[in-house]
Amino acid sequence: MSANVERENNGQEGEEAKKGRHMGVGHKSLLQSDALFQYILETSVYPREPAPLRELREMTAKHPWNLMTTSADEGQFLMLLVKLINAKNTIELGVYTGYSLLSTALALPEDGKIIAMDIHRKNYELGVPFMEKAGVHHKIDFREGQGITLLEELMQDEKNIGFFDFVFVDADKDNYLNYHERIMKLVKVGGLIGYDNTLWNGSVAAPDDTPYPKYVKYYKPFVMELNTALAADPRIEISMVPVGDGITLCRRLE
Ligand code: SAM
Ligand code: CA
Repeated sequence: MSANVERENNGQEGEEAKKGRHMGVGHKSLLQSDALFQYILETSVYPREPAPLRELREMTAKHPWNLMTTSADEGQFLMLLVKLINAKNTIELGVYTGYSLLSTALALPEDGKIIAMDIHRKNYELGVPFMEKAGVHHKIDFREGQGITLLEELMQDEKNIGFFDFVFVDADKDNYLNYHERIMKLVKVGGLIGYDNTLWNGSVAAPDDTPYPKYVKYYKPFVMELNTALAADPRIEISMVPVGDGITLCRRLE
């Protein structure tokens, strides 16, 4: 458990101090200190965070599964990325309450579209009012179901093959390689895929007996297998970016 989460659980931190801090996210930062992460948030992220995103973040911080949310610095990175590549048609796999989804939706042009997929609609619905308030809900086409099934459904329509500019994957880490084979057919040549959490709390470089939570230990070999496979895949160019919990960017070459 991170120092931040411990402090929260022990109730040793004042409400005021908590407000400006990304909740329960010691693990979200792979930087050398929580203070440095906090510096980034307070200096360059929070001052520019659109109000509906901030409100969604604050709502999500109170949700029991809030450890899953995308950190605000990564949301800002995604927004910049989507604009830099002029993305218009995108897919997001793994929505939760929608912080990365709303970040992407805000960055897309007015006629941009995101097909958003998750096995649980319920958490997405908690985020919908914030997407409506931001005036971007019309860009989002939410589909509930298993990632593999939904990707295969998309692949059945010829017009979706090689169609998407950007795909963000933030779902079950033991399926990323299965997603990769399908997404490689859906993303256009020159398009971008972002696989999230590829540094997996730093566990990928830690000894196996390091006392990480059970779920971290369980997914670690899958994440490591993914990282090795992406590095060896000649169909993509990659960069493993240490933002958030690590995001590997893949540009489709062929
Ligand atoms: N990107 C989200 C955000 O910004 O808050 C966080 C996503 S959370 C880490 C992972 C999500 O993947 C969960 O909402 C979970 O329901 C979803 N998920 C897990 N297994 C899945 C599967 N097999 N198919 C589709 N979604 C899945
Ligand atoms: Ca993530």
